[in-house]
Amino acid sequence: CGIVGYVGSKPALSVVIEGLARLEYRGYDSAGVAILADGALTTAKRAGKLVNLRNALDEEPAPEGTVGMGHTRWATHGPPTDRNAHPHVDCTGRIAVIHNGIIENFAALRAELAGRGHALGSDTDTEVVAHLLEEELRDGAGGLAEAMRRVCRRLDGAFTLVVVHADDPDVVVGARRNSPLVVGVGDGENFLASDVAAFIAHTRDAIELGQNQVVELRREKVTITDFEGKPAEVREYHVDWDVTA
Ligand code: GLU
Repeated sequence: CGIVGYVGSKPALSVVIEGLARLEYRGYDSAGVAILADGALTTAKRAGKLVNLRNALDEEPAPEGTVGMGHTRWATHGPPTDRNAHPHVDCTGRIAVIHNGIIENFAALRAELAGRGHALGSDTDTEVVAHLLEEELRDGAGGLAEAMRRVCRRLDGAFTLVVVHADDPDVVVGARRNSPLVVGVGDGENFLASDVAAFIAHTRDAIELGQNQVVELRREKVTITDFEGKPAEVREYHVDWDVTA
């Protein structure tokens, strides 16, 4: 399973798919991408190997965008079907979420959300995050990173999460607890991945996210805080080993 996020000036889809291919060694049963372009969110996802996703994108190409994210899934909640593959979206279809790990309290959160009228379209533990973000943004969270911090405070379990929102088209937000997430720092472009292997073809300057941290990724800026919004101490390092996997 793996996660890749990108904001820059290159075509996000190829950066993300190449990154996912570099993470294939970790094993997975489904793959998906989300691309932001011209104020719209496009997602594509397929059960099976990356080639299935590539074929689907050949048949129905995603618009060219320079902000996006990709996911390979190792199913824990819900069978490995197209429907359960990530990204998952909220009711507006404008917020997309990818996730590696397990959200332990998802059943209670799903029930709560259903009670407030949300229609959930998958069997996953992940989808609640999209709907919780929708509510936090509607209820006045100032931006996607703040919405993410509020949602993370309500989650139990292990997660690497990456999200995008069509209303905030130059931003990718990530978060982690008990599951890895690394920032790749580029020149006018930045990366997120569960493993540096996904981005070392582009940059070897990296920042490892600490436990219970949220990152807001823009082209020229990386902002890292804890779940309360307190700025995190950031240590950049250089990846000087070769990843052969
Ligand atoms: N628990 C999530 C799911 O089953 C994510 C699994 C993963 O780590 O890929 O969809």
